[in-house]
Amino acid sequence: MPLTPDQQADIDTLRSTPAQTLRAVSPGMEAHLYTAHPVLDHGFVRVIDYMGDDAAICQAARVSYGKGTKSVSNDEGLIRYLMRHWHSTPFEMCEIKLHVKLPVFVARQWIRHRTANVNEYSARYSILDREFYIPAPDALAAQSTTNNQGRGEALSGDEAERVLRILRDDAMRCYDHYEAMISDEGQQGLARELARMNLPANIYTQWYWKVDLHNLLHFLRLRADAHAQYEIRVYAEAICAIVADWVPAAYSAFEDYRMGGATLSSTALECVRRMLKGEEVTQENSGMSKGEWREFQGVIG
Ligand SMILES: Cc1cc2nc3c(=O)[nH]c(=O)nc-3n(C[C@H](O)[C@H](O)[C@H](O)COP(=O)(O)OP(=O)(O)OC[C@H]3O[C@@H](n4cnc5c(N)ncnc54)[C@H](O)[C@@H]3O)c2cc1C
Repeated sequence: MPLTPDQQADIDTLRSTPAQTLRAVSPGMEAHLYTAHPVLDHGFVRVIDYMGDDAAICQAARVSYGKGTKSVSNDEGLIRYLMRHWHSTPFEMCEIKLHVKLPVFVARQWIRHRTANVNEYSARYSILDREFYIPAPDALAAQSTTNNQGRGEALSGDEAERVLRILRDDAMRCYDHYEAMISDEGQQGLARELARMNLPANIYTQWYWKVDLHNLLHFLRLRADAHAQYEIRVYAEAICAIVADWVPAAYSAFEDYRMGGATLSSTALECVRRMLKGEEVTQENSGMSKGEWREFQGVIG
């Protein structure tokens, strides 16, 4: 369980004291507010605050005084148009603030997305919890033989046992040493900011992460994708489910044009045109490299 009873009580209190507001409210998002959605073995994602809804995107696009909404279908059409034509600034009018608990090695990938505001738990000031990510059996995968940046089948039997034992033993030993180094027992003990350097990258950290919808969708496009590492992908998928409830029309357009869509080079587009005319196009006469051709085939099925 990623939350202590005290933390859960704080969340329950927040959820039981609704406040009135004149601001735009997304009913789908209200259902998520403050609740922790578990991810991996000790992690979670929870919404702390948000601004805007589907209508806010349209209001900004129309620079209107009031709601500016002609009808829901009108708004959906406008949102799809904006998404299709990369008219991105109206999506920046919506914001979300998340509290995320995640392993440090996932945080290293996540922090590469520079267009967010972040405040992380201080391991200089506070003592980190004894919480380490240990993969579930089906996520304990072997190195891929075809993709240097990927994984293959799950390990099994003795090999899985051996790897899990190493992961658990190393994590516990490092944490024991961390505690031993910072413990004062009559002396000062090592500074927390130094003792933490001996901890493995699967220890959990936490942060508040605030980002606008445009940049969030960019993050999700990259990190909910099959090419992203599983451990960050599951966080992105949890956020996708939240965004789908928050701004259903924008999320639906995003799924259609970004997640489900594809970009074709002019060479690839020319191949599609030749194929439609009935010409037999092969890698050799396509003008594409073997890698490009393979990806092109993946796109057109
Ligand atoms: C599958 C995968 C594998 C990866 N592998 C590696 C790897 O091996 N090594 C590695 O180092 N990284 C790797 N990355 C990270 C990747 O290179 C990007 O750093 C990361 O995805 C963030 O993307 P971004 O810069 O578009 O996002 P953001 O930082 O959120 O930026 C969003 C957009 O804002 C603009 N922007 C933001 N800051 C600047 C700036 N300073 N200058 C100009 N434009 C800016 C750009 O248009 C950018 O696309 C990988 C990412 C993925 C998804």
